[in-house]
Amino acid sequence: MSEFKSTDKEYIAGTYNRFDVQLVSGKGSKVKDINGKEYIDMGSGIGVTAFGFADDEWNSAVCDQINKLQHTSNLYYTKPSAKLAELLCKKTGMSKVFFGNSGAEANECAIKVARKWAAENKGVDCYKIITLENSFHGRTITTLAATGQSHYHELFNPLTDGFIHAPANDLLALEKMLEENNVAAVMFECIQGEGGVIALDDEYIKGIEALAKKYNFLIIVDEVQTGNGRTGKLYAYMNFGIKPNIVSTAKGLGGGLPIGAVLLDDKVGDVLGFGDHGSTYGANPVCSAAALTIINRLTDDFLAEVKQKSDYIFSEFESAKGVESVSGMGLMVGIKTQKPAGDVVKDAMEKGVLCLTAKDKVRLLPALNIPFEDLKTAVQIIKSCL
Ligand SMILES: *Cc1c(COP(=O)(O)O)cnc(C)c1O
Repeated sequence: MSEFKSTDKEYIAGTYNRFDVQLVSGKGSKVKDINGKEYIDMGSGIGVTAFGFADDEWNSAVCDQINKLQHTSNLYYTKPSAKLAELLCKKTGMSKVFFGNSGAEANECAIKVARKWAAENKGVDCYKIITLENSFHGRTITTLAATGQSHYHELFNPLTDGFIHAPANDLLALEKMLEENNVAAVMFECIQGEGGVIALDDEYIKGIEALAKKYNFLIIVDEVQTGNGRTGKLYAYMNFGIKPNIVSTAKGLGGGLPIGAVLLDDKVGDVLGFGDHGSTYGANPVCSAAALTIINRLTDDFLAEVKQKSDYIFSEFESAKGVESVSGMGLMVGIKTQKPAGDVVKDAMEKGVLCLTAKDKVRLLPALNIPFEDLKTAVQIIKSCL
């Protein structure tokens, strides 16, 4: 039951298919609906509330900053965004950061950097960006063009020119495209999230890096969903031993406030100059203060715990009845169930666990700090729904 269901349906554009549940408050990985029913949250607002609801450290950083200064515009210096950019660069070895407000906006910036770099270094005819089939990069006209799933494109044409889609895990097909096109960048998710929680092959990702040396293109990794500790490393590319030129991220970065970031290595760190790009809300001090509490806590010890929780989830579901396969990495898990995934998610919700779907899979993206007790309870409840 949701008291605002009819108001929502009447006044909010119908882009979402909501569950008939109205959430009102949460603490940690538990959240309550309007009837007082409590759920264990295994979705974290699609990988956003990285440290759960009303996390003490996050809350106090956000409240402190909000009481001082909620916004300044980018005409002035502020401490939280400078500290956050420094922290992100120190932890990744990248050179520069651009801040925006969402994943799509981060990818837009990544694409602009690639185009300008290519125009200056390879000529203005070099603007093509190769992305992968079944990828997801966002909902703006340009990031839709980057997204390699045609069902998102229908009725929104013409999209931004210059994107071609390669089959994933096929280095020969990729090299053929590189020979036939003037390519500025190859852009991919190390684990395709919306596409069904599918990790790319280790060999393929390393192969892209080898091809980048041969054909002189940039590597853009879309870490909007996989980033910020989600896979058990700070960024998912770190699991594959590559060094991308550009990393885009958002979702979990702000722990529940809208912030996106583009990390640029030394090859492209100075591509964007004065007037080339901007975002009114970008580098917002409250969102930056929130993100500092997330990134600061992603230590090796903490990430080792993420891996332990991941191992628990994988071993429980790999041996469970009614499961065809388990995919993903860290606390980004896709479960192919014999029953339709939507039925499992509905059933779990009735029993007090919130889950997500991705394509035909049940998708789990719990808070990175979910207590083991809550995780165990949630996993056993989901198993009882299979
Ligand atoms: C969610 C997502 C996006 C889009 O992020 P928004 O914040 O919704 O714009 C882009 N890329 C990937 C991989 C995502 O998972």
